[in-house]
Amino acid sequence: MSHQGMNVKNLRRSNKSLILYLLNKQGDMSRKELALRTGLTPAAVTKLCAELIEGGYIRECGVADNKHGGRPEILLTLRLCERNVLAVNAERNRVTFSVCDMAGGLKCTSAINFTTDVDEVVRAAKSFLFESGERVQAIGVCIIGSPDDAEYRVWQCDDLAAKFTHEFGVTAVVDNNVRAFAEAELLYGDIRDSKSVLFFKWGPGVGSSIVANGRVFSGNDSGVAEIGHYIVRGDGQRCRCGRYGCLETEVSEEAILQMAKTKGLHMGLAELAVSDERAAMDVVDDRLSLIAPALLNTATILNANEVVLFGTMFSRERTRNKLAELIGGYYTGSAPLAISRLNDKRNHIGAVAICAEKLFFNAQ
Ligand SMILES: [Zn+2]
Repeated sequence: MSHQGMNVKNLRRSNKSLILYLLNKQGDMSRKELALRTGLTPAAVTKLCAELIEGGYIRECGVADNKHGGRPEILLTLRLCERNVLAVNAERNRVTFSVCDMAGGLKCTSAINFTTDVDEVVRAAKSFLFESGERVQAIGVCIIGSPDDAEYRVWQCDDLAAKFTHEFGVTAVVDNNVRAFAEAELLYGDIRDSKSVLFFKWGPGVGSSIVANGRVFSGNDSGVAEIGHYIVRGDGQRCRCGRYGCLETEVSEEAILQMAKTKGLHMGLAELAVSDERAAMDVVDDRLSLIAPALLNTATILNANEVVLFGTMFSRERTRNKLAELIGGYYTGSAPLAISRLNDKRNHIGAVAICAEKLFFNAQ
């Protein structure tokens, strides 16, 4: 049995979920190979696959040469691409709507300026969906703040999932946007189940989440147990959490643009993130010097194997390299920093992942 197969098995998922996760991580395979990798009997795998085919989760997709000799084996593949999701992703400056398939493929997208009025968001989402001409089987809603605690949520509504489900007539799944992104990394990214990974998002807000043993187990954008509220400056400004000098207050969109303004730079965050102007790069570097120790301290306490970066501010390689250089200044050896290869998909992939996780991989 392969090492990766063992890790998947250790998650104690249902046997059907186990098969779906294996096909997702390892690619198409035969029933025989599934039996080898899961440790289930061939008879059990045959029965489970029949039920998964019946349920529309997998289908047969051609034959592979039998590596061990004997008859060619029929391959099985996931039917993720045949299910559509409406992805709603809230950031501090805008709300993005996208229609995607459950494999993460983007069909169309649109955005509005951020609003605290959830009814306005629902109306805009409905008109986007209508104009797209697409039908969706689920809605993923990624929010700022905690889905479990209304106090830390920007959209005031008793039950957001119930509201979206009611408005659109399909199941809605709601989660914090940074947590959802980590979920996406587990499903569609390069994260190995055995690793402990710290995710750090920069721009427009600041957020972090943690993946360990194949699960997203902590982190939100809400002010609770959160890297954004590490105190990084004794003489800093008052944060929305009530303390002074929090990382978020120092490196948020508002703080960065304010700083840029004092240097005569009048540009938005996305523009500043990639600007070649010396003054703009100085602003970024200055803020990175606050981020580097906070990130390193968090990674140390979590014993994280890797730190994965995403967000608008990390869209430029120079910024990532500068952060690695700053972190490298605290110890010898190269910093285990990586940019998420899903960074370009950050406006939809989290919402797709939380739907796929709940309504596909763990549905049966
Ligand atoms: Zn704070």
